[in-house]
Amino acid sequence: MRVEGWHVMLFLATLLAVAAVIVAVTLVVLWTVRRVRIAAANPPDSATAKPRSATGGPDCGVIAVGHGRRRVRLHDIPYFGRPVRLPWAKRVWRCPDQGCPRMTFAEEHALAGPRAKPTARAVNWATDALQHFDT
Ligand SMILES: [Zn+2]
Repeated sequence: MRVEGWHVMLFLATLLAVAAVIVAVTLVVLWTVRRVRIAAANPPDSATAKPRSATGGPDCGVIAVGHGRRRVRLHDIPYFGRPVRLPWAKRVWRCPDQGCPRMTFAEEHALAGPRAKPTARAVNWATDALQHFDT
């Protein structure tokens, strides 16, 4: 088989088209799964959480010691029609009192209750949408 000039041009055009499709698909995927992260200047624990050094157990009041962090991904209200996830490194404390009924406890925030996946405003947004757009 003889390779002619237009064969090379056709091959290069096909290669260019495939590369363009790959770039377009990558951009669409990145655009649709873009996440909004909490800015470091305003983490959720800075608004209402107690200072680290003076956190007492909720049951006994004994000053607790740090026990690491638990990563939580909260579902928040959509932002310009796109889903929003809020990553939160929730602080966990351990009570040093041996007789304490609660061995560990986690940081709480007004935006998300204990073990909550959607934020409080996402729940309000969803119930509001159900009330107004229910058919
Ligand atoms: Zn305790």
